[in-house]
Amino acid sequence: MPVRVRFAPSPTGIPHVGSVRTALFNWLYARHTDGVFILRIEDTDRSRYDPRALEAIFGSLRWLGLDWDEGPEAGGDYGPYVQSERLEHYERYARQLIEQGNAYECFCSTERLAEIRAERQRRKQPPRYDRHCRDLTAAEREERRAAGDEAVVRFRTPDEGTTSFDDIVRGHVEFETATIDDFVVRKSDGFPTAHLAHVVDDHLMEISHVLRGDEWVSSTPRQILLYQALGWEPPQFAHMSVILGPDKAKLSKRHGALSALEYRDQGYLPEAMLNFLGLIGWSLDDKTVLISREQFIEHFSLERMGKNPAAFDLERLTWMNGAYLRELPEERLTELFAERLESDLPDAAPRPIDRETVRRLVPLVRERIKRLDELAELVTSFFSDEMSYTADDLLGKQFKEDSSGAAAAFRAAAQRAEALSAWEHPAIEEAMRGLADELELKAGALFMLLRVAVTGRAISPPLFESMELLGKERCLKRLQAALTVLTK
Ligand code: GLU
Repeated sequence: MPVRVRFAPSPTGIPHVGSVRTALFNWLYARHTDGVFILRIEDTDRSRYDPRALEAIFGSLRWLGLDWDEGPEAGGDYGPYVQSERLEHYERYARQLIEQGNAYECFCSTERLAEIRAERQRRKQPPRYDRHCRDLTAAEREERRAAGDEAVVRFRTPDEGTTSFDDIVRGHVEFETATIDDFVVRKSDGFPTAHLAHVVDDHLMEISHVLRGDEWVSSTPRQILLYQALGWEPPQFAHMSVILGPDKAKLSKRHGALSALEYRDQGYLPEAMLNFLGLIGWSLDDKTVLISREQFIEHFSLERMGKNPAAFDLERLTWMNGAYLRELPEERLTELFAERLESDLPDAAPRPIDRETVRRLVPLVRERIKRLDELAELVTSFFSDEMSYTADDLLGKQFKEDSSGAAAAFRAAAQRAEALSAWEHPAIEEAMRGLADELELKAGALFMLLRVAVTGRAISPPLFESMELLGKERCLKRLQAALTVLTK
């Protein structure tokens, strides 16, 4: 049987990293097995529907390069892939369940249900429907309908036996059937509950494996009961462990961002995020930490999915991001840097951002940043001549009391630079080192002066490579400008 897996997010909020990891594992399994990865939008909870969430779902998957074979926009033979467009299917099977005697209409008002809940709470019992409408006669139901009472459809859960399934990650899971409520399968607004919708869709879409977060384990017996009542074979289940913060508490805002797209905005690379998430709850061999997309696809297996909650460790992600910045091919980094600079550089930098400059900057800065959001500040001076340093910034600690010494150094440096015939960094460096000796300055002190004058900042890419990249004329102008600031 071909592998068909689905990622089935509910567009109720911005997808967080846990749900993106679920998508990743489904995608990896599909790609590993040459199977099909399906995106299904589970939007039956209309009260919590949020259209921005949908955009963020698409955006997160695209950012990580998790392409779907079937689903919204991609199409496919099993559509529609949006649950709110599939109501007729759920309605048909809800009817079938009623006709078979596996489900019944329940007319209880919200007030009545709230009372039952409160009463059970008082007795410290888990919430549960008292099955009041289970055995209404046909005439009684007719009467309620005629009175205009709204009905939900509830599953008639058997009173005895066990309901079980074999989970690929967690092994055999078994529940006393009698502990399962007469759960709702169709709400009074005509929409199915998640249970019915999952089961109907997973069956009709011929899903072979359900890989999802383990918050769904306790719902699975209800779904198994539905499969049994409808006479269908359930898919295989693999419930993956939750992601916790490094302190082992539930992942929350205080551990860092929750949504994958926030990490994108902070300047994490998709390659690093994919690597990082792929190793939360799965491992290749307990030691390999840097794994490419291709290697993941080649080696991914459900058997190596861990049962224990796995920790989200932001420091590790940042470390990985640094590693990818050092290792990705220059072309790829040029593309990523250019894209980032388009949006992050100040308006004074002309658009489009000059690619050639970006390409030449890559080797100079790739080891100096850990996240892409640190890039613009570091390289603004290569794209814009606007400088915002003050005389104090220029003088720094070394020349604090000696602005005339600094001015003399600028004049001399400008002369040396002017005299250079080849504008290449080894020659520039040699000239400036020579100058430091002559002026009896520490090389570091002179270079700091030059650095602030030429790049506008005390922290910059390597000075002489930067000067080479900026070009002679621009450097001379900047030395001149620094002199003006000092002598004003
Ligand atoms: N729509 C569910 C969610 O957002 C998915 C449940 C499932 O994968 O079966 O968590």
